[in-house]
Amino acid sequence: MEISFTIDLEDPTGVYAENGRYVPMTYRILDLCDSVGGRKATFFSVGRVAKANAGLIRNIASRGHEIAFHSHNHVSLTEEERARFFLESKEDKDRLEQISGTPVVGFRAPRFSLTPATAWTLDVLAEIGFKYSSSIMPTAVSLFGFPEAKRTSFFWPCGMKEFPLPVAQVGRWRIPYLGGIYLYDLPMFVVRHFLSKASQDEVLWTYTHPYDFDRDQPFSPMPDTPLWVGAVLWEARRRASGKIAEILRISPGSKRLCDRV
Ligand SMILES: [Zn+2]
Repeated sequence: MEISFTIDLEDPTGVYAENGRYVPMTYRILDLCDSVGGRKATFFSVGRVAKANAGLIRNIASRGHEIAFHSHNHVSLTEEERARFFLESKEDKDRLEQISGTPVVGFRAPRFSLTPATAWTLDVLAEIGFKYSSSIMPTAVSLFGFPEAKRTSFFWPCGMKEFPLPVAQVGRWRIPYLGGIYLYDLPMFVVRHFLSKASQDEVLWTYTHPYDFDRDQPFSPMPDTPLWVGAVLWEARRRASGKIAEILRISPGSKRLCDRV
């Protein structure tokens, strides 16, 4: 079983300082990759990271990881406007390619906000040269769910390939289980059970964020989020690095998402 490892490279404070906490946390993830047999991963970088911290992007790419794109400024696709989205995405793709010395062909929407209402963004991305997206939650349980979507990978009319977030079918529910709070809160025997039920034609991947690895981060309220939700998320993140390490041990393969297009 092959589970690709993906990281959404963003700064939760939105400041993108050269010495922001996301930087040492990213190095922590890179060291984890090295410690599990030189594992290769896909890093979806926010465009502003490349502007603020080219050295970090260069380091990730030099270790053989894929650099992909996670929007210019991490706003949900529902708030994008076509002309600006085109210009910012093109500029960021060019910059990421110059810094990394590799083609940048993958895209992930912030907050998995790719739905039928925002699918126009893919026409723009295909025009710029992107080949795949990893941006939908084929379930109704999230803020930006796309419950009618296929669970297996598929091609959009623009030609881009989609790798939907892996979900388990439980009765009439589709439950995410391989990343974020879902992975951090589910017991591992449940995760292993769901993995055993995954079909052969599903492209499996897990995801995490540098801030998930920040165990020393004191609790603080999150913007636009009820206090209790913020507390649940903060508590769940304390289990993140251990859970991710377990997933990487379950699947010792090293295919980046660009290797699976
Ligand atoms: Zn993100």
